[in-house]
Amino acid sequence: MTTLDATRREHVPSTPAAAGAAWHTAAAEELAAAGRWEQAYQHLRTAVRLLNGRSGVDELDRLRREHAEAREQSRRDSLTETYNRRYLDERLVALVREPGSVGPAGIAVALLDVDHFKQINDTYGHPFGDRVLQRIVAVIESCLPEGSFCARYGGEEFAIVLPGHDRHEAVRVCETARERVDGHPWPELAPGLRVTVSIGVAHGFGPVTGQDGLIASADRLLYAAKHSGRNAVAFHDAHTGLVRLAGPAAGRRSLPQAPVAAPDCLEGPSAP
Ligand code: GH3
Ligand code: MG
Ligand code: MG
Repeated sequence: MTTLDATRREHVPSTPAAAGAAWHTAAAEELAAAGRWEQAYQHLRTAVRLLNGRSGVDELDRLRREHAEAREQSRRDSLTETYNRRYLDERLVALVREPGSVGPAGIAVALLDVDHFKQINDTYGHPFGDRVLQRIVAVIESCLPEGSFCARYGGEEFAIVLPGHDRHEAVRVCETARERVDGHPWPELAPGLRVTVSIGVAHGFGPVTGQDGLIASADRLLYAAKHSGRNAVAFHDAHTGLVRLAGPAAGRRSLPQAPVAAPDCLEGPSAP
């Protein structure tokens, strides 16, 4: 018997309002234990209203808003306001654990790294580099389909997570992001400025590859994109396992295959 159970037995509610509040509190506890937060909250709200009237409800709503804001802030990167590494790790664990959440199309994880970013910092200064990172995130996020998200992986590297997207769609999204960064009016920030990114796109079916597998695979592909000359999107050809580049770079550049391992994931039927 929990302390709560004991308390409930010892304290028999003395008024109808208190009895009602006790009933709603018990219902809220049960629903919260089952993870049904919204319904639990509604019962708690009713209990508070019965005991404390409108002012109690207002206070509860205020606490709830503050809690939601604090939770949201704890998930965000302070510079770019995109999701942070903690959120990325938590979401990836949840997504790869639950095959239903990614569906038959699987999940893509891309790693994006800014090309020659050190030069940008060295030329224009660190605060300017910060503004470039903020703009890059805005451009990437403008390309993301519903249900996908961007997160700061570290430094000038970002992850793009596309649950429920097959390899073909994921490569298309990433190639669009690369193109848009390249075509962004950077000279608005500084005359002559050009910014490009390189991206490695890994694809799998959650439970088969696992979170580390996808990130590690994306990292190797990112290395291949850099090695091909940067400003490129690299992915594994689903049929041959060879590394390929997306878009116009595909026909123009040769790619070293040796350092990049073959796909470590089960391949989907609708790959490019
Ligand atoms: P590459 O094309 O090979 O990726 O070259 P790079 O110059 O981008 O790579 P490198 O890893 O040498 O440099 C990354 C730089 O990113 C170094 C670091 O100072 C800078 N950086 C990391 N985080 C931040 C940040 O929050 N703000 C700014 N302004 N710079 C950052
Ligand atoms: Mg880097
Ligand atoms: Mg870089």
